[in-house]
Amino acid sequence: MAGSGKTTLLQALAAHLGATDTPAYLINVDPAVADLPYEPNIDIRDTVDYGAVMEDYQLGPNGAILTALNLFATRFDQVLDLVTARAPDVDYVLVDTPGQIETFTWSASGAIISEALAAALPTVVLFVVDTQRASSPMTFVSNMLYACSVLYKTRLPLVVVWNKVDVAPAGCAQGWMGDYDGLSDAIGDDPSFAGGLARSMALTLEVFYEAIRSVGVSALTGEGLPALLAAIADAAAEYEREVAPDVAARA
Ligand code: GDP
Ligand code: MG
Repeated sequence: MAGSGKTTLLQALAAHLGATDTPAYLINVDPAVADLPYEPNIDIRDTVDYGAVMEDYQLGPNGAILTALNLFATRFDQVLDLVTARAPDVDYVLVDTPGQIETFTWSASGAIISEALAAALPTVVLFVVDTQRASSPMTFVSNMLYACSVLYKTRLPLVVVWNKVDVAPAGCAQGWMGDYDGLSDAIGDDPSFAGGLARSMALTLEVFYEAIRSVGVSALTGEGLPALLAAIADAAAEYEREVAPDVAARA
């Protein structure tokens, strides 16, 4: 989600990895970001001028992001060549996605970019949640539905990252994953449509939790980053087991 802290997390991970001598390769795929707190190795903004796209095509902000992504996707083979050439020297390639979730997850170019990456390298998805904003049972359920849709759309191993634990402890929301009774109590006997939907979704989501991992982090303080790297390693092992054979079969 926009504002959940993806860019800050990427910067924090890059700094953490840099400090432990495993430098990462950084790619920014957000055409609309004004300032980045990290120095990307590849930046969509070097290829596509978001402001000019808005003017030239008479588009609003989301339309311009989509068009910029489309233009970038047409050249993604070149990006991939650069990435795979550097891959033997780096342990991690970190990709920062645009603020609005649907522009990446539900666009043709987002699919092209993530599929191209997944065909070339072990690829995992981090779904970053603003923990403070997911502290009510309803927003928790809608966040999990989003995460679930990302899992099924990309078919890649997923880590749910509960970010900003410095301002809101992850415990409560994270604890609701796999605790149907606890979540159901929190939803209460709200008789509205939303209450009923949340309760039945909560039950449906039980299977989803078995397929994913979750960690609490603070991109601001660096808390939880080692646990996040462990979860990423676990997700990468799932890639090797479940995704790599498919990729090999298609090649
Ligand atoms: P993005 O849109 O997902 O890339 O989000 P950003 O990385 O741009 O962050 C959005 C806002 O959340 C910024 O004001 C960040 O400083 C803030 N932020 C990001 N991570 C954290 C965190 O772990 N803790 C706190 N307190 N704020 C954070
Ligand atoms: Mg960002």
